[in-house]
Amino acid sequence: MTTIDSYLEGEWCVGRGKKTALVNPATLQVLGEVSSEGLDMGAAIEFARDRGAGLRAMSFARRGEILGAMSRAIHAHRDELIRLAVANGGNTQKDARLDIDGASGTLAAYADLGALLGDAHVLPDGEGALIGPGGRLFGGHVWVARQGAAVHVNSFDFPAWGLAEKAAVALLAGVPVVSKPATRTALVAHRMMKIFVEEAACPPGALSFIAGSAGDLLDHLLGQDMLAFTGSGDTGWLLRGGRSALAHSVRVNVAADSLNAAVQGPDVQDGSDLQSLLLDDVVRDMTQKAGQKCTAIRRVYVPKGREDDALERLRERLAAVKVGNPALAEVTMGPLATSEQLTDVRRGVLRLQTSGQIVFGSTSQVAPIGDGVSRGFFMSPVLLFNAAPEPTDAAHTREVFGPVATIMPYDGSAAHAAFLVRAGGGGLVSTVYSDDRAFVRDLVRRIAPFHGRVTVSSSGLVGQALPPGTALPQLIHGGPGRAGGGEELGGRRGLAFYMQRVALQGDRSFIEGLLRSE
Ligand code: NAP
Repeated sequence: MTTIDSYLEGEWCVGRGKKTALVNPATLQVLGEVSSEGLDMGAAIEFARDRGAGLRAMSFARRGEILGAMSRAIHAHRDELIRLAVANGGNTQKDARLDIDGASGTLAAYADLGALLGDAHVLPDGEGALIGPGGRLFGGHVWVARQGAAVHVNSFDFPAWGLAEKAAVALLAGVPVVSKPATRTALVAHRMMKIFVEEAACPPGALSFIAGSAGDLLDHLLGQDMLAFTGSGDTGWLLRGGRSALAHSVRVNVAADSLNAAVQGPDVQDGSDLQSLLLDDVVRDMTQKAGQKCTAIRRVYVPKGREDDALERLRERLAAVKVGNPALAEVTMGPLATSEQLTDVRRGVLRLQTSGQIVFGSTSQVAPIGDGVSRGFFMSPVLLFNAAPEPTDAAHTREVFGPVATIMPYDGSAAHAAFLVRAGGGGLVSTVYSDDRAFVRDLVRRIAPFHGRVTVSSSGLVGQALPPGTALPQLIHGGPGRAGGGEELGGRRGLAFYMQRVALQGDRSFIEGLLRSE
């Protein structure tokens, strides 16, 4: 059994008191234990803040080199990390690869951005302008690294990617990181942290790691600090309203729930390649990580009169899903990550049933394959059908974070599709499947303000499209409203959260020099 230790003030340390067990959710085998009780969170965050000067003294290119080393280090341990994700996260091999490769890929992408930004220490923001009549008074904007620490609180579903995608952006901006994974699936993030410390030559204080609960960490946040949180909306609201966060105007980024939608355009023929792409995306999102993925499609809108065909084809695909111990190669869907998750998803399906009916699967009947799985947190995929969707229905108001989706008809117009998509209250990503340019344009314009990302899947992309649920370092990840109102990644755009944009005004001969990026 592994003791999951924290890395604070440049030392590995273990909390005292009652420990929380980390288990294999398929077999309930205990894999490790953790406690953060008694750890000095105030000293840890102060240490990180203090060491930020070292990072800020480096150029973007030098920081990029560090990210490159971190990416290579975890890639070299890919197989080991995948095994840990299978054991502690209930991931299939494929699920685990998405997380681990997403982590190394995002670090590599930000390493490349560092090289591109070169020897600079600050980032110019547009052109300056003369602001007075005399020809000397000049003003402009520049981004500089903030002098606090970046506290990262992550969700249980992507322990590797969650750590890496946030750390990559903060470190490139020149800000030290204190990262806290969700406790129950922390094994992968913990091993990654060991690898970073031992093999990636991270500068002292650049990365700290809290295993176990956050304790009073957030009470120590000050005005130059940043809090980036990924998790449930309820926790996000709590943290955003924390005493220190409010008192010191701490920058807070929340990435929370999302009821991501897929819309089948009226032009998409039953049995066409484009319809197949949509249905494959739905089934992948229902089963990958057992549906525990923030970008998973939860709502599928199909033109009225075409529901039976889509339902039939989805049933066929879902019947081929093999639920069981993800250590077995033939298993295509593992268990939910925790017993609390299983209970929550079952409750959520009951809510969805108030305005829909189950047309595939069940919350109570499942026959997982593999040894020792009788007490595991398994559930079958559940597909629901809601024949007359209304904005107040649970499918539009409640995220069920598991292998669950709801099919609903719309009247075939972009206006009605948008009316229903918007009822989700703001999301991370929604996808339009259509070759009809006028329909796509109309729908995208109507739903864009409610999303962080909109994906358009057309016939020409079949065979080349990336699954819409894949968050990419080049594109922003986040979304308004229900999705938390935050924004991460997006290449250079992501750096803004960790930097201060400052306006400089004065004599043109001074200001132009200050606005340049060295
Ligand atoms: P959660 O229960 O809200 O926990 C998220 C993180 O917050 C964990 O690290 C948790 O630590 C920590 N936490 C909980 N209470 C806290 C407090 N009072 N102070 C400080 N930290 C606290 O969410 P989850 O169950 O892990 O994740 C599932 C949710 O995340 C879903 O709703 C999903 O949609 C969302 N999600 C969103 C995104 C996105 O990018 N938008 C990505 C992935 C997941 P402990 O584990 O120690 O309790």
